[in-house]
Order: sequence, then structure tokens, then C-alpha cells
Amino acid sequence: MAVDSTLLNTMRVAKETVVAIEYTLKDDQGNIIDASGDRGPMEYLHGAQNIIPGLEQGIDGLVAGDTKNVLVPPQLGYGEYSEKLLQLVPLTAFGANTPQVGMRFHAETNLGMRVLTIKKIEGEEVTLDGNHELAGKTLHFDIKVVSVRAAEPTELAHGHPHQSGGCCGGGGCGSGEASGGGCCSSEEGSAGGCCSTEEPAAAQKQGGCGSGGCGCS
Ligand SMILES: [Zn+2]
Repeated sequence: MAVDSTLLNTMRVAKETVVAIEYTLKDDQGNIIDASGDRGPMEYLHGAQNIIPGLEQGIDGLVAGDTKNVLVPPQLGYGEYSEKLLQLVPLTAFGANTPQVGMRFHAETNLGMRVLTIKKIEGEEVTLDGNHELAGKTLHFDIKVVSVRAAEPTELAHGHPHQSGGCCGGGGCGSGEASGGGCCSSEEGSAGGCCSTEEPAAAQKQGGCGSGGCGCS
């Protein structure tokens, strides 16, 4: 069977491909929330919930070199903002630590491990917010597809790409984390799919895992 080089050069983004994109993320007002910028392209495994559904849908079927504006409504992004994810805890719950508004930390909740943000401190009461900071927001992505390749079997097995750099670059992403396998939890719907972090980058979460890697070989 003859190999059609034209086809090889135009592999389309589809399930079981590893895709690298450059992106800029803006809010409704046009403010830049996040960008791949100096970090370089973000690589992810398509169809493995590495990134938010709306972005993945928008990239589906593209080829390397394509650019596109992808509009992602909250329900296909980080979800609607939910008052139910607010909870009050006593100041004493922080022990010797001094909580400050805006602090983020991981905690086990009845919805599983989540990133909580201290939203308000009033007297002896601290309000914690379990919403993602981009919950309720419509996201405007300008993306460019840098490359598309078939995923390796180990990548499919792990549910994420293996590459130098990027989120699973090299060690320390805590095999003991509450993620259900793979490198890091993708349950938080991070657009970049790496890890949840103290400093969530909107489309690629690098904190915590950044120097890390998955502990997978
Ligand atoms: Zn892996």
C-alpha cells in the first residue's frame, strides 16, 4: 500500500492524537487571563479530558498550522459558579496558620479533593470557595495548532502525553496525589490538564507539577 505523504502531513486532531497548541485566553472584556507565551506550546492528549471540553471540541478536526478563535461557555469550561461550593469554617480550623483572603489550598471535601480559595474572613468565620476561579466565565481562546501526532501506546494507557518539558516533564508530581491514576488529576477540568496548583494557569496548570512529571516512565 502506498503511503500518501499528503495525508501524513495533514493529520487531523482526533481522539488518540497528541496535539500541541499555542493559545491566548481572554475574558469577555478582552483581558488576557493566560497565554502559552514563554512556556511554549501546550501539549495534550486529545479525547482524554486533558483540557476543558469546549476547547477540545473547538480543536477537533484541525491540522497543524490552523488558527482559530474558540469561544467556550461556562458549562463547557469550568462550570457555572455555584454558591453551594461556599462553606464557612471557624478561624480556629487554621491552627497556627494565619489565613488571608485569596489564599488557595487543597482540601478534601465531600466532592473530593478540591482547590479552595479563602474568599472572606469575618470575625471568627472564614468563607471558603470551592469554585474554580474561572467558574461562570465565558472563555475566549485564540489558538494555533503547532503539531499533531499519533499518541504512543503508553500515552494512551496513562491518559496524557509524554514529552520533555510541559506538565509532566520530570519528576515529582506526587504519585500519592488524589488523582485517579495518570500524572495528575484532570478532574478539576483544567484546560491544560496537568495538575491543580496554587497558581492555576487557565489553560495549563503547571504549579506543583511543573518541575515534576508523573512518576511514570
Ligand atoms: Zn505518564
